[in-house]
Amino acid sequence: MKVCVLGAGTMGHGIAQVSAMAGHDVTMRDIEDEYVQNGLDAIESNLQGGVDRDKVTPEEKSATLDRLSGTTSLEDAVSGSDLVVEAVPEDMELKQETVRDVEALADADTVIASNTSSLSVTEIMSALDDPSRGIGLHFFNPVHIMALVEVVVAEQTATETLEFARDYVEGIDKTVVEVGDAPGFASSRLGVALGVEAMRMVQEGVASPRDIDTSMELGYNHPMGPIELGDVVGLDVRLGILEYLREELGERFRPPQILKRKVRAGKLGKKTGEGFYVWEDGEIVGVSEDVMNR
Ligand code: NAD
Repeated sequence: MKVCVLGAGTMGHGIAQVSAMAGHDVTMRDIEDEYVQNGLDAIESNLQGGVDRDKVTPEEKSATLDRLSGTTSLEDAVSGSDLVVEAVPEDMELKQETVRDVEALADADTVIASNTSSLSVTEIMSALDDPSRGIGLHFFNPVHIMALVEVVVAEQTATETLEFARDYVEGIDKTVVEVGDAPGFASSRLGVALGVEAMRMVQEGVASPRDIDTSMELGYNHPMGPIELGDVVGLDVRLGILEYLREELGERFRPPQILKRKVRAGKLGKKTGEGFYVWEDGEIVGVSEDVMNR
């Protein structure tokens, strides 16, 4: 089938890659040639990494690239597609405008999916004349490594749209979890609940960040503890999600002071070199001084 991916950024290029690897013809669209090329280069480099590690054969790499094209033309990208996945920035107005433009160019039975990580899929798809063809496909970063896709069923999603989406996700060798269109879906809501409680525990001096993380890594077999994960995701991103979940779901998601202080101080985690931990060259080298109260 033909898949169109809108946005060639972090998520878009990953979704394009896994779709092409599964045998679909893929067109990836971004707004500037440079962004399209960056996305294509990132896919080429991911595939080469796979070849170097003997996970992908050179033949699979070239066949995948042959099935993939990039464009800045929305019309060329959407035309003849069975599935359009939007991975444009997380902004309700932009997403609504995007799906509306897609619908004007798409066939009547084209499924339109959003990779939003937090916005209401029901609200995004309310911009369509036929919202029953809209659905959420929440991929995880990095897309070519992460096995999960949350299939988010909006209020108006038709049963055929859901079945189509499930088949597509299973066909690209990912595992489906089906969730209703509730804030934070399943993954972010639970992940953030754990993260916020861990931060409160640091704030109250219950244990050090390292000991909290180790307790979840060794006691519950989590690959990474909740404090370290917050640093990796970015504390500003965590704060944004918490503020949204607090607004939608109530006080249990109130951001702790320690998190607000970190963000105000520009200590955003791995990307700025300091969050709850101190980072150098992508590795933890110590614990931030202002949480060293134990
Ligand atoms: P990104 O900034 O890396 O990429 C977005 C791309 O969309 C940019 O290249 C931008 O130029 C392009 N773009 C903007 N307007 C466009 C348009 N009208 N048509 C086509 N392309 C357009 O962002 P990202 O991290 O890939 O996030 C994209 C979406 O995926 C967001 O909704 C985000 O919430 C969601 N998401 C992100 C992650 C993550 O870890 N980064 C995980 C799950 C879901």
